[in-house]
Amino acid sequence: MKIIFSDFDGTLTNNGKLGAVFFDLLELIESRHSELVIVSGRSISWGHFLLTHFPLKHVIMEGGGVIVSKNVEGQIVEENLVTEADIIHLEQVTEQLRENYPHCVLSADSFGRRTDRAIEFSQMKESDLAEVELFLHKNKVNFSRSNVHINFWVGEISKYKGVHHFMQHYTPHVKKEECLFYGDAANDESMFEFFPNTVGVSNILSILDKLEYKPKIILEGKENSGAYGVYNHLREVLESSENF
Ligand SMILES: [Mg+2]
Repeated sequence: MKIIFSDFDGTLTNNGKLGAVFFDLLELIESRHSELVIVSGRSISWGHFLLTHFPLKHVIMEGGGVIVSKNVEGQIVEENLVTEADIIHLEQVTEQLRENYPHCVLSADSFGRRTDRAIEFSQMKESDLAEVELFLHKNKVNFSRSNVHINFWVGEISKYKGVHHFMQHYTPHVKKEECLFYGDAANDESMFEFFPNTVGVSNILSILDKLEYKPKIILEGKENSGAYGVYNHLREVLESSENF
């Protein structure tokens, strides 16, 4: 496999923690001259962190709103995939949300986001959430639920759009058949639809019924949850073919 695309939370972590298995995974991917591209709903600032501390060249952050890369000089460069007007509209809507819905809990990293914002839905009552979602809907703001946040944005953002743009402009020589995608939540659905080779780690089971497009392979058992599932599956794939 030329590129391993993967969600981050719940897919490369376990119970919210980044463990030793993540480093084993990086080593495995590097030893096979493959590349890991993380596709996450986390903020652009997280993208800087990932590129600074791990052997990665590109990450796609904010649910596909921005591509962050390390160039040949080692500098971090960014490409926004939404317009400046959409970014300004989002700022205005977020301000109204803060003023009109004091029970809405914005994620602590919302200040470090550019193309989207995030809501800590686990800290809110369902009735307050429903009001907030109605407000977003009325203001033509899109939103989707990951396993940690409700992300919202203006314009067209999806993991699919981010990855599709990335493959066209950054790695045009790579076919989607030469890639694998790992995920665990509803915001990975556009990836399950797009890639022929997709894997859901075993903790995806709880939301599987909600997906119209499901991963091709669904791992089972506690030993295959999160990063353990990615590592076990990928090791098998990479070792079973000399072409990889
Ligand atoms: Mg996830």
